[in-house]
Amino acid sequence: MSEAVCVACSHKIDAAARVCPYCGANPQTGEKIDTEALLRETFQPRAEQSRAEGVLEFARQRQGIVVLVGVVVAFLILAALHQFVTARNANAVASGPAVPLTDITDLSNQAVQVQPQPMPKLDFQYDGNSKTMRTFIVESGAVTPPEVIAAQQAAARQAAAQKTAVANAAHPAPAGTPAQPPIRPPARPR
Ligand SMILES: [Zn+2]
Repeated sequence: MSEAVCVACSHKIDAAARVCPYCGANPQTGEKIDTEALLRETFQPRAEQSRAEGVLEFARQRQGIVVLVGVVVAFLILAALHQFVTARNANAVASGPAVPLTDITDLSNQAVQVQPQPMPKLDFQYDGNSKTMRTFIVESGAVTPPEVIAAQQAAARQAAAQKTAVANAAHPAPAGTPAQPPIRPPARPR
């Protein structure tokens, strides 16, 4: 790399340089180039902008601030709207018919939800005769336990006694006849 010396500032610079990087002058002749005029020629200054253009330019340069201000303004508008609606609803009377609170909160009176699920199809072969299915399910040769039989008979006796008592109260029996036949003791299964 050959070196040359700038005439204007006497710095060592590259020989191929057209302009001295230190002083900006021509290294051979030492005369300076008017860069201001060149710059002015290349980048022409803008014409005087109007006030609206100035505002737009300001907004373009500071987009963050503009977005922030827009968000704040939108929030204030929404808050004011909400305040207005709240104040209006505080004392305004609805013109529609009143709706009971249970229509909204009570789910048990909704027919669709309390509807029982349909019975799934069962693959038992009882051909529509439920008796067949019952004998199919109940164990053959099963014996009712004696205490269960005794309880059933006691319940039946009580029911019969209540029935006769009600009948006697409605139609009193003539005197001299027994109110009801004596109850026989239940036959114990062997
Ligand atoms: Zn120079």
